[in-house]
Amino acid sequence: MNAADHAWMARALQLARKGLYSTHPNPRVGCVIVADGERVGEGWHLRAGEPHAEVHALRQAGERARGATAYVTLEPCSHHGRTPPCAEALVAAGVGRVVAAMQDPNPQVAGRGLARLRSVGIEVASGVLETEARELNAGFIKRMESGLPFVRAKLAMSLDGRTAMASGESQWITGAAARAEVQRLRARSSVVLTGADTVLMDDARLTVRAAELGLDAQTTALALQRPPQRVLIDGRLRVPLEAPFFQAGAALVATTAAGREEAYRDAGHELLVLGQERVDLAALLHELAARGANEVLVEAGPRLVGAFASLGLIDEYRIFVAAKFLGSSARPLLELPLERMSEARELKIVDIRAVGEDWMIVAQPRG
Ligand SMILES: [Zn+2]
Repeated sequence: MNAADHAWMARALQLARKGLYSTHPNPRVGCVIVADGERVGEGWHLRAGEPHAEVHALRQAGERARGATAYVTLEPCSHHGRTPPCAEALVAAGVGRVVAAMQDPNPQVAGRGLARLRSVGIEVASGVLETEARELNAGFIKRMESGLPFVRAKLAMSLDGRTAMASGESQWITGAAARAEVQRLRARSSVVLTGADTVLMDDARLTVRAAELGLDAQTTALALQRPPQRVLIDGRLRVPLEAPFFQAGAALVATTAAGREEAYRDAGHELLVLGQERVDLAALLHELAARGANEVLVEAGPRLVGAFASLGLIDEYRIFVAAKFLGSSARPLLELPLERMSEARELKIVDIRAVGEDWMIVAQPRG
């Protein structure tokens, strides 16, 4: 592996990112084919059911793929899914070398695509820009490895760590740029999840709004074709079916109250009974992963986010910080009653940057 390998893989990752808003439940994958130091083909996966990145790149390269090097951000698949296996396509095209950023995370198939290529004498390397490749598909990887989605909690707070006034009034803590960032977080997620308090208090609909995404027309169109599923946690079914949330499209409702399944179905929604006294959040996440959810965005009030946090179910916090004080009677970021310093939750800040007038902190729980 050399500097050129890194540069071409960086290009393949750039292509893979074009699928950020549309490939789920599949991973985002990009591919570049290089012959004699020159790019002869490239492609990326656009949508589930459509050709994989390698197929697009091989088509573009044509005969020039023979003896060339293929850079791909994920191990080429070796199984017959909705499309034929890419490992076979690379063999048929006669490529001389395949460089992958990472192995397939599915323990059942990991290494098989690369092994197939090696078996016919193709030179194989793996692990180029692996950190970046893993980050791009953190949700897909986690689902494959653990049967759970990658859970991201979005929170907005003032500099003094408050989210809403004591009355519940909370609109527009952050500015337009932060709201666009939240729209993009929604659009890239398989699921956007909220609680009854948020829906009742804010009339939240949790939809993706094209005008606020701030993306080019093509990417916006792709994102809107594959909007996230909206999931509501409503243990006692307090949100009426007439609420804007339900009027905005089909939703999945997780509850503890059985017996109303038909009414929800008739209104175009699905009611899922999970748990006895409280909705079993871990069971819900397992169910969502089983349905193909890679990334789940939690946009909820302090109580529900606190419940996810205390169960250790959150992988990443996206905390938007507005440069204002809301004062000491305003509501806290999380309902997480801790008594001793030794109980403090340790986080690692992995990114912090300005978003318009506001700041965004990306943090992950330690340990
Ligand atoms: Zn494939």
